[in-house]
Amino acid sequence: MRIVLLGAPGSGKGTQSQRLMQREHIPQISTGDLLRAAVACGSALGHKAKQAMDEGRLVEDELVLGMIRERLRKPDARRGFILDGFPRNLAQAQSLDRLLKTLRQPLDAVVQLEVDYPELVRRISGRRTCADCGRVFNVSTSPAQLKESEPCQCTGAPHRLIQRPDDNEATVVERLRVYEEKTRPLIEFYRARGLLRVIHAEGGVEDVTERLEQALHAVPRGTAAVRGRVRRKPRRPAARRSPKAAPGSKAKRAARTTRVGAAARVTRAAARRARGGRRRASPRGRARR
Ligand code: ADP
Repeated sequence: MRIVLLGAPGSGKGTQSQRLMQREHIPQISTGDLLRAAVACGSALGHKAKQAMDEGRLVEDELVLGMIRERLRKPDARRGFILDGFPRNLAQAQSLDRLLKTLRQPLDAVVQLEVDYPELVRRISGRRTCADCGRVFNVSTSPAQLKESEPCQCTGAPHRLIQRPDDNEATVVERLRVYEEKTRPLIEFYRARGLLRVIHAEGGVEDVTERLEQALHAVPRGTAAVRGRVRRKPRRPAARRSPKAAPGSKAKRAARTTRVGAAARVTRAAARRARGGRRRASPRGRARR
């Protein structure tokens, strides 16, 4: 299954992708995670992306597309994938279309996670990540989850929570503005292609997962992969085809007996009678003579 999860920052794309990944055994491809990893390891790409990320702007299309091209060509993406945080504008969506066409792996569905603005802000400002294992918690929406959780699987000690640098108030406002301006138009882009499903993504994580599963349940699996190769209905053998389609002989003559043909013959016969019965030479006949 090849899907895109669309939604504003804080709409739960990451959380739901993780759950879907475990259920479907397909990779989650998050451009945000890939970019953060590039920043963390200090690569050239990371250096170029960092400033835009810190300011809540989109990273240059070419950088993100390069990452996606490379990632989608990896063997584990052949069985399907969940794109989380990509595409984020029309140019990216069009490039993705072209790339997936070349790979002969068209999308099966695009799911839009709808969450109200105040709830988005509440979720983002409460989001914390364990600096060691990367597990995400939310101190405002699910405070109990942290208290009840197992110790960090990397250190064995309690989780060391940090706030993502771009989860501060000023950056969040800019990210939401960029989402409205650049990413929201993708809803119509995918609706027009018949791929869009919208789910209400507020409430408990389990409830949202259930809605997502229901939305994906209706998607015919794997059909998109062969859409380009679907065979047309086989043609009937020549002998059983309509007279029009069968060349030569009786059938050919029958095919000529259309209403238009018959009307033309009647008109020609009437003209002949008016001329006194002599058949007028056809232009072809005259030319031959
Ligand atoms: P969120 O969805 O909460 O904003 P992400 O982890 O998806 O968080 O993205 C974090 C940041 O990474 C974005 O604000 C943006 O700067 C950058 N980014 C992620 N995906 C893209 C993308 N497809 N195109 C451009 N920039 C991106």
